Amino acid sequence: MDKTRGNSKTIIAATSNSHKVREFQEILGPFGYHVLSAKEAGGMPDVVEDADTFLGNATKKAVETARALGQMVVADDSGLEVLALNGEPGVFSSRYAGEGGNDGRNLAKLLNKLQGIEDRRARFVCVIAVATPDGLVGTAEGQVTGRIALAPAGNGGFGYDPGFIPDGFDQTFGELPPEVKNRLSHRANALQNAIQNHLF
Ligand code: IMP
Repeated sequence: MDKTRGNSKTIIAATSNSHKVREFQEILGPFGYHVLSAKEAGGMPDVVEDADTFLGNATKKAVETARALGQMVVADDSGLEVLALNGEPGVFSSRYAGEGGNDGRNLAKLLNKLQGIEDRRARFVCVIAVATPDGLVGTAEGQVTGRIALAPAGNGGFGYDPGFIPDGFDQTFGELPPEVKNRLSHRANALQNAIQNHLF
């Protein structure tokens, strides 16, 4: 990206989710990037996430934040899709339990809906959108497949992490060390695709 800081390039993460900012830093640090939150770069504008796709919401967050800050930014829209629930909670992942909900309630609702259902296959999806004040630069997608645990396990990560077991493992993202999640997650795949496509 355009700004340099010593030997590192600075990326502005268009999100007010501190967990996402930390994961951006852990994923992009080894590529020589230093990640700033939009708050640190001048303030995250209020973006209404009313699109019905991850792509639509990621694009909206990137374009509106880049315009508000007058700088290039990288946005992330992501969520969990459960096969047996026809892709629920999807774009509603952060608001699944409704008003007054939180990560714990969202996961509790999901586990409740899956009670007695044997097919627990699911995937996390992440769309990264990069924008400058002049408009969208491009988008990249990543995903990680796995299954929904029978009960929450672990305190690591955020969101649905204590309920998601990635393929090839027996522990949830909440139990696995962050370096494992940040090596194989939807966010890691999407950011690596964004770098490969020269989006920043
Ligand atoms: P967004 O901020 O609108 O993109 O909403 C993302 C929501 O999807 C979060 O609030 C979580 O509920 C869920 N989510 C996205 N990525 C992750 C992850 O890496 N782990 C757990 N939950 C996630």
